[in-house]
Amino acid sequence: KQPQSEIGTRLCRSGLLAAEHSNESKSLSDEENLKLFGKCNNPNGHGHNYKVVVTVRGEIDPTSGMVINLTDLKAYMQEAIMEPLDHKNLDKDVPYFADVVSTTENVAVYIWENLQKRLPAGALYKVKVYETDQNIVVYKGEETTSE
Ligand SMILES: [Zn+2]
Repeated sequence: KQPQSEIGTRLCRSGLLAAEHSNESKSLSDEENLKLFGKCNNPNGHGHNYKVVVTVRGEIDPTSGMVINLTDLKAYMQEAIMEPLDHKNLDKDVPYFADVVSTTENVAVYIWENLQKRLPAGALYKVKVYETDQNIVVYKGEETTSE
């Protein structure tokens, strides 16, 4: 049997997100934080222009010819990504990052969780966040065990 992730057609949509943050783990000392995060630990924060690419999957709807209505997807991305994160200080303005370190990995998880609530079950396939051209995180949710 084909793994479920291989079924259906994929559709990607990307968006740009500008946000400010400072990586700091509350379970580490200042010195350990500096060693672990380097520049990204600057307590005054710094900005990134994150590029977010969201991939959804599904069967092509015979009526619309689309995997998902693009207008809907655009609205979901606006609500789940842009409204809570764009031009925000992740650590100070987004409650989720009060206890979670604002690394790009965790930004991807946050986007996944926020978007998944809005999309039809199983439609979200991949969240890819470009912090820079060199620093890219891909999150595909928790690994599903085969049944
Ligand atoms: Zn950073």
